[in-house]
Amino acid sequence: MPATENTEITELIADVREQVLYLQELGVETLEFCGDLKAGEREQISNLKLEIRNSEAISNFRSEIPDIKSVSAKPPESKPAGSRLASLPSLSKLLGSGPVRTKVDQGGPRDMENTAITLNADELPSLPEPTETIEQIRAEIGADCTRCKLSGLGRSKVVNSTGNFNADLMFVGEAPGADEDEQGKPFVGRAGQLLTKIIESIGLTRDDVFIGNINRCRPPGNRAPETDETIACKPYLKREVAVVRPKVIVVLGATAAQNLLETKVPIGKLRGHFHDYLGVKVMPTFHPAYLLRDPHKKREVWEDMKIVRDYLNAQG
Ligand code: SF4
Repeated sequence: MPATENTEITELIADVREQVLYLQELGVETLEFCGDLKAGEREQISNLKLEIRNSEAISNFRSEIPDIKSVSAKPPESKPAGSRLASLPSLSKLLGSGPVRTKVDQGGPRDMENTAITLNADELPSLPEPTETIEQIRAEIGADCTRCKLSGLGRSKVVNSTGNFNADLMFVGEAPGADEDEQGKPFVGRAGQLLTKIIESIGLTRDDVFIGNINRCRPPGNRAPETDETIACKPYLKREVAVVRPKVIVVLGATAAQNLLETKVPIGKLRGHFHDYLGVKVMPTFHPAYLLRDPHKKREVWEDMKIVRDYLNAQG
C-alpha cells in the first residue's frame, strides 16, 4: 500500500476510533449504517477491511496513534487582578482566525437581524479590568437576591457559578433547573451528569472548568428567563468572566447562546464555529438536556468540543 494512502487510512481510523470512544462515553451502545449500499460497495468495504487487517502498519495503529490529546488543566489557584490579560488572545489574532464578531453589551437580547453583526476591532467592546474576586461578586448578589421577579416565583436558592476561578474553559447555561434549585449548584441533574462526560471527553474534569448560568434563579416551570430577568442577572456573569478571563466560553443551548451573543440566529447556525464575547472566544453548542432528548445531536457537540479542545491546546 502506498505510504500516503497508509497515512490517510491511519488518520481515518484514529478519527473514527476517537469518535466511537466519545459516543461510548456518552452511552451510545450500537452504531448502525443507515443507507443502501450500491452494487459492489459491500464488496469494496469487505476488501478494505481485509486490506486493513493485512496491513502491518494499520494493524499496529493502536500503538502508533497517540491517545486523544487532552487539554492541560491549570491548577485552581486564585488569580491576581489583571494577571492574565497578557495571555488573552489578541484582537488581531481573534479576527485573523475568523470568529463571528457579535456586538454585545450589558443589556438583554435585542431584536437583531437573523445574522450576526461584524464590526471592526476598534469598535468591539472588551472585558473590563478585573477589580474584584468571585467571592466579592457572590457576596454582592447575596443569598436572597431580589433584583428580578424570579426571586418571588418559587426559587429555593440562588445558584452561583462553581469551579476553577482560573479556568481556561467556562461553560454557561441558561438558568438552574429543579435539581440545581434544590442543591444550589449549577448542572447537577441528569443534564449536568452528561455535561460532566462532555468535559471529561476532552481530558478535563469539572474542577478544571468554571460553570455558571446567565440567570441564577430557577424560572417557574423551567420556562426561559424573560428579558428583564436576564438584564438584571447577566451583569454578574459578565463580571465573573472578567475575573476568570477564560480563553473559551462554551455556551449551552439556544436561549443562553442567543442571550450571551445578543442574536436571534438559531443554535444550529451558531454552533460549529467561534463567536466573540468581549474578546473571549465563544462556542455555542446544544444543551445537554437537549442531547438527552435527541442523542443524535451528540455528534455535533463532539465536533464543537474538538474545535474547543484543539484551540486550547494550540494556545498552550
Ligand atoms: S435571577 Fe439573578 S437577579 Fe434575579 S433574583 Fe436571581 S440572582 Fe437576583
